[in-house]
Amino acid sequence: MAAHDAWALVCRLFAGDTPVLRNTLSPRDAAALSVLGKAVKPTVIDQSFVLCPHCQQHRAQVWGDGRGGRMCRCPECGPVAVEVNDGAALALDEDWLRQKMRLALGIESRDGIDDLGGGVWRLGDARRSPVLLVRDLTRVLHEPALLDRVRVADGDIRVITPRPSTTRGSPFGAGVEWLVLEERFTIYGGGIALLGTPSPSSTPAIADPATPVNGPFSADFKWATLPAVQATPIQFTDGQAKVLGALWSFKGEATTAERIMQRAGLDSAKPSDLFKVKTKDRGKPEHEARLAAYGALVKSNRRQGVYWMPSASQDVAST
Ligand SMILES: [Zn+2]
Repeated sequence: MAAHDAWALVCRLFAGDTPVLRNTLSPRDAAALSVLGKAVKPTVIDQSFVLCPHCQQHRAQVWGDGRGGRMCRCPECGPVAVEVNDGAALALDEDWLRQKMRLALGIESRDGIDDLGGGVWRLGDARRSPVLLVRDLTRVLHEPALLDRVRVADGDIRVITPRPSTTRGSPFGAGVEWLVLEERFTIYGGGIALLGTPSPSSTPAIADPATPVNGPFSADFKWATLPAVQATPIQFTDGQAKVLGALWSFKGEATTAERIMQRAGLDSAKPSDLFKVKTKDRGKPEHEARLAAYGALVKSNRRQGVYWMPSASQDVAST
């Protein structure tokens, strides 16, 4: 948790481009400082001028109020008491941030970091893709020429920015990969780590095995997502999964128990045998949920001895 809070504080300091007063830190931020080490450095904020605490509109000079306290004279509000503060503050060591970001991204190019001005840095090339660290997303959106300055012929540009308050979805077109600082990186072992790298060409590193792939079923038929039966995915036994997979393969066609069990590679006489709840398991939620799922998914005609799974039919699947 401390690492998460520490990274959130780093991102806030970077985005805000200004030190924070020590006594405004939350207890969680204060606890996170132990993780940050050299990433933050003490500084002092000049408090001879402050933002008027009353209207938050005007900067006003601070005076002693003659009674040991302090006040500012706001052009609009007049004299307003100002909380006494020692000005002790913390600033982000931005050079630390940029160097550790380079390591996190595997940037090994010998050329250093380019300060492009206005809170934009070219950190270097990661696998031939130029990487920009940008303090404020709107800056690159308003000045696309910045991207043209670093664009290369055969690689996307990566743009890393703190999470903006308004933008939804991706603000860039093709050729630019946008990484949100807060979401894609974290503090790790005194440095910065790039978190899982989802890309359209690869599956996520940790895929949920219950993810519905075949109708309500997971790829291996060991899970079914049926909110009407159970709020969470229902997990089946290996045998049940084989029967459900076999039933699915007949695409909703009524099929004899013998053919289904043959395709499932099981010795039982009929599909429902696998779902019977044994006396000792009566009332156990996982067993009852499996039986309920079977009841919801499989139809049968006992007289003809056939079974089918309506949700597996092509008609249903395409609607
Ligand atoms: Zn004011």
